[in-house]
Amino acid sequence: MERSLETQVSQAVDAWLRWVPRWEPATHRGRVAPCRRCLGSPILSAAGLGSDVPHGVQHGLSTRVKTIVDHAVAEYTSRNLPLLQAELDQQAARNRARGYRPAEGLAPEFEGLPLDPDPIPGQPFLFTLSGLANEEEAQVPSLPPLSEDAKIALRREVALADEYANLIGREVCGILLHHRLRIHAAIVEYVEPQVAAMLEELSQALDAPFDPRDAGDGLGL
Ligand SMILES: [Zn+2]
Repeated sequence: MERSLETQVSQAVDAWLRWVPRWEPATHRGRVAPCRRCLGSPILSAAGLGSDVPHGVQHGLSTRVKTIVDHAVAEYTSRNLPLLQAELDQQAARNRARGYRPAEGLAPEFEGLPLDPDPIPGQPFLFTLSGLANEEEAQVPSLPPLSEDAKIALRREVALADEYANLIGREVCGILLHHRLRIHAAIVEYVEPQVAAMLEELSQALDAPFDPRDAGDGLGL
């Protein structure tokens, strides 16, 4: 029997709570582009994870909850939307034909993030993971084109799937409201002290007085 949405959301929050104690601030350069999954996400606002919470912490939760919505929509599609399901099956078969699929099978903390770091101006990468994946994709033959009628019918089913996704999304957000307290407690216990320590370190580095002896060494005096 399918687990209820309440159970699924509760288990997703449990999994995130088990992961949060292992979270550490990223030591590498921050990303320039905002994450499309997390920016303005109603899931995150329902969970009470505001923009003051580091993105890695947000992403771990938004991805786990999005998986629940995706799964519900996939169920609904397989039962009610035969044209869309056939299209998805074809795409899945096409994906399986590709040997290199770097975006699949990732942990929730990494899923949906860009595969490669932002390039540094003037220092192009020799190769990127997304570049390799795109090359492989080009070698898989395209799907046969759809007739106009089939396109219209398919668009209608896509709209129905969207509507259902919105419905489930709203329901999931309503359920998340009940988990806000334990989500907040984990932020206070594991995330805030690390963010505070990081800010403290930064302000110390900025406040460090200039020592003229350091400059003297440099001049060979
Ligand atoms: Zn994100």
